[in-house]
Amino acid sequence: MVETKALADTSVFGQIAEYQHEQVVFCHDHETGLRAIIGIHNTVLGPALGGTRLWHYASDAEALHDVLRLSRGMTYKAAISGLNLGGGKAVIIGDKSLKTEALLRKFGRFVQNLNGKYITAEDVNMTTKDMEYIRMETKHVSGLPESMGGSGDPSPVTAYGTYMGMKAAAKRAFGSDSLQGKRVAMQGVGHVGTYLLEYLQKEGARLVLTDYYPERAQQAAARFGATAVDLDDIYDQDVDIYSPCALGATINDDTISRLKCQVIAGCANNQLAEENVHGPALVDRGIVYAPDFLINAGGLINVYSEVIGGSRQSALTQTEKIYDFTTQVLLKAEQEGTHPQAAAIRQAEERIAAIGKVKSTY
Ligand code: NAD
Repeated sequence: MVETKALADTSVFGQIAEYQHEQVVFCHDHETGLRAIIGIHNTVLGPALGGTRLWHYASDAEALHDVLRLSRGMTYKAAISGLNLGGGKAVIIGDKSLKTEALLRKFGRFVQNLNGKYITAEDVNMTTKDMEYIRMETKHVSGLPESMGGSGDPSPVTAYGTYMGMKAAAKRAFGSDSLQGKRVAMQGVGHVGTYLLEYLQKEGARLVLTDYYPERAQQAAARFGATAVDLDDIYDQDVDIYSPCALGATINDDTISRLKCQVIAGCANNQLAEENVHGPALVDRGIVYAPDFLINAGGLINVYSEVIGGSRQSALTQTEKIYDFTTQVLLKAEQEGTHPQAAAIRQAEERIAAIGKVKSTY
């Protein structure tokens, strides 16, 4: 779950400086046992938006590292998608047994104290009910269900964006963006993966898939006319496209030499175990990599539409642009002799720098 990249300076401020955060808030409450960290990476473009994750971190240092890395990722995701949002994320340290109404509402008060500089949402191990409790103490919550006036499940929109990114990468690799007859190996057929399978089946792709839960894989295989394979076998499939839709860091020293695909495009976050090692390694192997934070931004775009009062349709229209953004980034990477993830990060940073200058006059 947590990337293990070694940092030069592992002190608290050393890490904050390394990732260039604006503000990191440590939240503690003796009564409820709350220990949480809110990472606000960058608010040049707008309020820092990102979910709250509950996780049983092995140490406080691991929790800090995770929140810093995740919140920085949100900055890039928003910036490259043309959203007026900054990047933020929160982690609550502990397991599910820790969750009480009082703890969640206390956390809500910490979010409220930031006066909208940070907007939270649901993430790993948090439920809609949990968000309802947080919402009782702060209005700075997004991604709520439609029944609560929110934008609802973001997964279909994330899947649509991932599909758009996959098509753009296919165009680069194969000269056509048609996925008709293309062999796709999908790892993880959960919320997003299932919606993505619908698009792929409709277009006539040939599907191989796996899931941590074999019965889930079998069900998806039956529904979409796909072949289910064992967990670890997904990397060895003779396919055109590998689509990681489960966990991060699956493109690593162990898997990269096994991949036979020409395109990687999936919705999982942080797919490259080490960006600056595995990004270039994919270029060397002639694999077109569609940057994860760019093509899985549909969910964030959907939440943003809630923040600005847009509709599901306007979110889908904006998400469709992921096709053009991916095309541009892949071209830019080639022109600059770099790898797509680096080109995408640079593009996000350029937008933040340019808009930062626009905002520098009163
Ligand atoms: P999910 O939990 O519904 O689905 C993940 C699936 O992966 C599950 O079916 C799970 O059993 C399976 N899985 C877990 N470990 C696996 C393994 N080792 N091998 C194969 N399968 C495994 O989650 P989701 O909402 O579909 O999100 C999938 C990924 O996309 C996550 O990395 C998530 O962070 C990312 N993402 C999701 C959204 C969204 O809108 N839901 C937005 C952006 C990014």
